[in-house]
Amino acid sequence: MKEIDISRAIVEEYNRRLLEHLENDVVVVGAGPAGLIASYYLAKSGIKTTVLEKRLSTGGGIWAGAAGYNVVAFEDKGILDEIGVATRQKGDLYVADAIEFATALCYKAKKAGAEIFNLIEAEDIILKKEMVKGVVVNSTHLRMANLPVDPFCISSRYLIDATGHPAEVVNMLRRRKPQLFPKELKEGFMDVEKSEADVVEKTSEVYPGLYVAGMSVCSTFNLPRMGPIFGGMLKSGKKVAELIKNKLEI
Ligand SMILES: Cc1cc2nc3c(=O)[nH]c(=O)nc-3n(C[C@H](O)[C@H](O)[C@H](O)COP(=O)(O)OP(=O)(O)OC[C@H]3O[C@@H](n4cnc5c(N)ncnc54)[C@H](O)[C@@H]3O)c2cc1C
Repeated sequence: MKEIDISRAIVEEYNRRLLEHLENDVVVVGAGPAGLIASYYLAKSGIKTTVLEKRLSTGGGIWAGAAGYNVVAFEDKGILDEIGVATRQKGDLYVADAIEFATALCYKAKKAGAEIFNLIEAEDIILKKEMVKGVVVNSTHLRMANLPVDPFCISSRYLIDATGHPAEVVNMLRRRKPQLFPKELKEGFMDVEKSEADVVEKTSEVYPGLYVAGMSVCSTFNLPRMGPIFGGMLKSGKKVAELIKNKLEI
């Protein structure tokens, strides 16, 4: 074994995966709970799905649960049973280990066939004939270094904004078309009962080719925040996958 063989294996494999996923049925921006579960259901149905995550690790806001207590809460456990996450009942709620939840989601999405690229940040969208056609991306480390380096593009038939609170992809659209989203994209005061239901109901296509899932739904529609409970995130991710499957007639 030579040092150069290790480097060649890594570069060839990464480039093979990247080339294979420059064109996609679905691109999910953000590998938090909503994006990962959406990609799991999409890939499981045979839909070519790529997830882009700007951070080093996937899992978004899962890891530290609430206030650094790495436990996550849910109002039901159907999806958790499906992906093999152990739960414990606490009154009307179920709790699970945040680390187990984050890693299981990532593992199940990957094993279902979703391709996941970390350290890749979506910085803009491709919009043609009033339809979102993909995403303009760059390396997170280049952006952090603030270097003037051109991005590259990844195409999608459908793009999902699963970027959480900042609703970054919807904001990219809003900057050019403010009339579509006249109000600043942000959540309202906390109201868990209302928001857990609303976040699922409002999960939708917000512009031709662009869907929202998870906390970005709350920000896009100015829904109340819901605190550290993750059932709505999973149901929203599952719903967005169903909506896109219907569009693709799968
Ligand atoms: C500081 C903080 C505050 C929170 N406040 C609330 C709250 O008020 N209400 C609540 O319900 N929950 C809150 N949570 C809990 C939790 O974050 C969310 O409920 C849940 O994680 C949201 O899931 P999501 O999948 O929608 O987004 P997240 O878990 O936030 O995942 C989004 C992912 O997208 C990635 N991303 C963002 N932009 C880009 C981009 N341009 N390109 C590529 N990747 C991108 C992020 O790195 C992240 O991994 C909070 C968590 C944190 C850490």
